[in-house]
Parts: sequence; structure tokens; C-alpha cells
Amino acid sequence: MEEKIEQLKAQAVEAIQKAAGSLSELDDIRVKFLGKKGEFTSILRGMGTLAKEDRPKVGKIVNEAKAQIEALIQQKNEELKARDLEKILSTERIDVTLPGRTVPLGHLHPLTLTLERIKDIFFRMSFSVEEGPEIEKDYYNFEALNLPKDHPARDMQDSFYITEDILMRSQTSPVQARTMEKNEPNAPIRMIAPGRVYRRDEYDATHSPMFTQVEGLVIDEGISFADLKGTLELFLHQIFNADVGVRFRPSFFPFTEPSAEVDISCVMCQGKGCRVCKGTGWLEILGSGMVHPHVLEMSGYDPQKVSGFAFGMGVERIAMLAYGIDDLRLFYDNDMRFLQQF
Ligand SMILES: [Zn+2]
Repeated sequence: MEEKIEQLKAQAVEAIQKAAGSLSELDDIRVKFLGKKGEFTSILRGMGTLAKEDRPKVGKIVNEAKAQIEALIQQKNEELKARDLEKILSTERIDVTLPGRTVPLGHLHPLTLTLERIKDIFFRMSFSVEEGPEIEKDYYNFEALNLPKDHPARDMQDSFYITEDILMRSQTSPVQARTMEKNEPNAPIRMIAPGRVYRRDEYDATHSPMFTQVEGLVIDEGISFADLKGTLELFLHQIFNADVGVRFRPSFFPFTEPSAEVDISCVMCQGKGCRVCKGTGWLEILGSGMVHPHVLEMSGYDPQKVSGFAFGMGVERIAMLAYGIDDLRLFYDNDMRFLQQF
């Protein structure tokens, strides 16, 4: 029996000395020899078969052997821990003289920058910013703007319909109708409505089925076409430059009467004529007009008491002209080589 215990002890000592790999290897050895189902425990369990006078002696030897093995494991454990620490210290040393890693900072998208500039100019003229839903009722998108169901001008804004009466808004004008409706009748309004709009359209250098629009609306007593001209000229001179030429051309929109397209002198050729302005020297930049009396009435305003003007522009177009960008799709491609230039 004593011989067997000595043998076991020798096995354990050898295993411990060889356990150079890891702490978990050492733990396996502990379980094998000292665990509840380990070798020494089974000897103690089998003590019943020994002669009575032998039992204390064998028990003592077993316990001594266990204590020795336990101490050896403990010692090896510390050695391995120290070795691991040494390894970490030598391989993961920090070079404090290296420069720190910088976190790349993002910045605003050129469309956002342009929209912020537009908003800023109108803020200084005491305009407020109003917002509305991008999924809109047919009533607000068309009918409240003097475009009944069979109106031919609807075809120019063929949109994405969700149901017969709900669509992706084709313009931000519904925000104007919604704002007039929630106001007291005839209450003065001076607002812009920026946001995304959706139309069934090509996706090429100058078209996209989704783009960003800013519309404006001013309503008060005695608002005239002179106010429209003065406001838009001031805006265009600030967003482009004070020398830019501005002209108004008669046009037609169902929700304004009279209506005018607004052109600026070509920012590429200064009005001499080039490819961008197709040789005319002018660039179409805005649509505008005096709010149609019927539109005022539909939203509870009295055209006998108040009048107003409205205008709308594409933010992409203004950004393209302001930054000299020749392909609209660059705004949506998320190509870092493009975006990092702003
Ligand atoms: Zn030109």
C-alpha cells in the first residue's frame, strides 16, 4: 500500500514539473490526484479493506503526500503566473513616445451645409422653419394647392403612391397648407419649409427621384409682388454673390397667380454664355408667385383681407451651382473622396 502511495506521489510530482503549458493544465493535475474522484481520495475511500491497525498509518501517509502535492502545485502555480506576467510585460510594452491615435471626425454633408446657409439667410429675415410629414395625404399634396384630381399639372409631379390617397410628398408645399390650417384665420405667416420630396424621375446627372426642396410662404395684409421680388433678390444676392443678376420671367403654377420663374445670371460664365447655361447666360433657380386666392380660401384665409407670396427651390441645384458640382448623383453616392472636399 505504501509503495502504491509513493508511486502515485512520484507520478504527481513528475506531472507538476512537466506542466509548463498553462494554469489550466495544472488545474487538471490537481483534479486528477486530489479531486473528489482523484487517485488519493479513492485510496482513502478504500481504507475499509485494510487491517485496523494499519489504517492510521496509511491515512497519515496519504495526507502527507496530498499536502506535499498541494504545496508543489501552489508553487508551480506562482511560477506560471510570474512567467505569464513576464511575457505580457515584454511583449505588450507601451512606447509612450509614439504619437496618439486620432479619432477621425466627420463633418456636415454639402447638402446640409447648403441648407444651413439657406436657413440662416431666411432666419435673419425673421422667417420660421416649419416641417411636415414625407408621407402625405393627396389632399395636402395636391388638392389644397389648387390641383384637383384631374388637373394636368399633376402629371409633372407623378409620385410614389402608397394608396389611392396617400403618397410620398412630391413637394414641400403641403407644409404651407398645414401651417395655414393650424393658424388662426388670417394670422400672418413668414416661414420656410425644407425637406425631402419624391417624384418618379430618372436618376442621372441632373435628376433624382428624391431631392431636397425649400419652399417659402409669406402672408400678411398688403403683401405685394414687390415684397416677393425684394425678398428673393436679397436671398439670391446673399447665397451667391451681390453682383449676381436676377430676372423674373412670367410662368404658370396652379397655386400662384401671377407666377414667375426666377433666373440668375450664369455663375459659371458670368452671363457670357457657356455649356452650363446652354449659351443663354441665365440659370433657372426658383419658382415663385402670389398665392392664389383659392389656395388662401381653402386653408381658411380671406383673400379680401390678406395676400401673400410663395416660392420654392431645389437645394441640390443651389449646392451644385455654389460649389461647381456637375453631377447630382455625387450627393447620394457617399464617396469619401467627394465628401471630404467640403
Ligand atoms: Zn454660363
